[in-house]
Amino acid sequence: MELGLAKTRLKRMTEASCIFCNIVSGDIPADIVAESSNTLAFKDIAPLSKVHILVIPKKHYKDVVDLTESSPAVLGELMAQATNLAQQHTNGSFKLHFNTGAEAGQTVFHAHAHVLSDESKDDS
Ligand code: 5GP
Ligand code: ZN
Repeated sequence: MELGLAKTRLKRMTEASCIFCNIVSGDIPADIVAESSNTLAFKDIAPLSKVHILVIPKKHYKDVVDLTESSPAVLGELMAQATNLAQQHTNGSFKLHFNTGAEAGQTVFHAHAHVLSDESKDDS
């Protein structure tokens, strides 16, 4: 088989078994809080703080390095979405992070930003 075709098939198999690709397609339900052309934001299923939102590209990239190298414009859109949501849901104090690689705690290999805060807007 041609290498390009093999890579395309492997990518399709990865996407079919990817939890976040399945959330984008609607096959797995999620508490969606916002959407833009190329990004989706939803509440984390196991929140680590009062506000815990995940922002993902709709297309599959394995981590933020892959996303940055392949689609810097989508990374920009994702950052805009994440910081807008942080401002809407918190009093302005928040953490924004990307776990990258299993040793750094990445468990879902579809790029995502965590928006975390213990100060929700309701507190202020
Ligand atoms: P990571 O550890 O890869 O940086 O973050 C993955 C995050 O995805 C975790 O915080 C985990 O709780 C969340 N997560 C895993 N599966 C699901 C799911 O099916 N739905 C939602 N909403 N979040 C999920
Ligand atoms: Zn995916």
